[in-house]
Amino acid sequence: MRVLVTGGAGFLGSYLCEALLAEGHSVIVADNFLTGRAANLAHLSHESRLELRWLDIIKPFDPGAVDYVFHFASPASPVDYMVHGVETLEVGSLGTFNCLEVARRYGARFFLASTSECYGDPLEHPQKETYWGHVNPIGPRSVYDEAKRFTEAATVAYRRYHNVDTRIVRIFNTYGPRLQLNDGRVVSNFMKQALRGEDLTVYGDGHQTRSFCYVSDEIDGFIRLSKSNEHLPVNIGNPNEFTILECAQLVLKVTGSKSKIRYEPLPQDDPKQRQPDITKARQLLGWEPKVGLETGLRLSLDYFQKAVAEEVAAS
Ligand code: NAD
Ligand code: UDP
Repeated sequence: MRVLVTGGAGFLGSYLCEALLAEGHSVIVADNFLTGRAANLAHLSHESRLELRWLDIIKPFDPGAVDYVFHFASPASPVDYMVHGVETLEVGSLGTFNCLEVARRYGARFFLASTSECYGDPLEHPQKETYWGHVNPIGPRSVYDEAKRFTEAATVAYRRYHNVDTRIVRIFNTYGPRLQLNDGRVVSNFMKQALRGEDLTVYGDGHQTRSFCYVSDEIDGFIRLSKSNEHLPVNIGNPNEFTILECAQLVLKVTGSKSKIRYEPLPQDDPKQRQPDITKARQLLGWEPKVGLETGLRLSLDYFQKAVAEEVAAS
């Protein structure tokens, strides 16, 4: 197939490109490098089936005939989307329409990277796909949450009104090598701080929870869902839930760091708990995450050590 990946120079997009190439497809990446990096795809530069295009998808674009559109473009870390609030709304709204139009024009299948953030600060726990969510529409996270909820509505509408063949994945916190060192996400912050011997900044009392999925498991889920016939949203995430304090302690263990924990204020509307119910993915896709948090952090250690060393060398 000839496949379009928007946001392909980002963290998840770059792994997705690898997986699609490994499946024998040709891949066109459309990315404006707002939060992505060409370095994420540098190891694939020899690959003639990979084409990298600098493209801001909020403007209409035509990649030529494609068989599948994977729409991953959007800032994803809270720090990134709060700095780039308007761009996040634009890529979720205008960008999503443009991608859906590409799929419609060429009769391509369409795969949307949505998020657990659609559930907001959830009142149902763990979160099933049937839960409608609890989102503050005017809070600081709304630029992302509402943009992503809109992407789902637009995707469902193109299916309903224009017969576009769609898939929607709700992605839960994913980590691994190539997470940007300074994107402010909890795993990148803690790994960076631990390796530099700085305090680990735990926001609030650290009892809020997240469920962390290692990137290889997450991508396996995407590929399975992309081949399935399921068009309603599917949660893909690791159901093992950790408090942020437990996550900090694991990072200290894996890095062997003597860093201390420093408590800082909890950001507004920070979800108190998050854990996917993955019954649907298990039954429908036979998908099950394999990599636990400690193992995944160990698998990421080498990358973070190099990233910290490069930053020191550049300063
Ligand atoms: P990322 O920031 O590393 O990647 C996003 C990519 O989109 C970047 O390469 C960026 O330059 C590109 N982009 C942004 N705006 C664009 C535009 N207007 N035109 C073209 N390209 C643009 O983030 P990520 O973690 O790889 O997330 C990828 C997708 O997965 C996002 O849609 C995000 O909402 C979703 N997601 C990620 C997670 C996670 O834990 N990583 C969780 C839930 C959902
Ligand atoms: N967090 C933290 N310290 C940090 C970064 C994040 O305690 O240095 C917390 C944050 O408040 C949230 C959780 O870790 O409760 C996950 O944050 P992240 O930004 O990774 O993603 P989110 O799941 O909130 O989108």
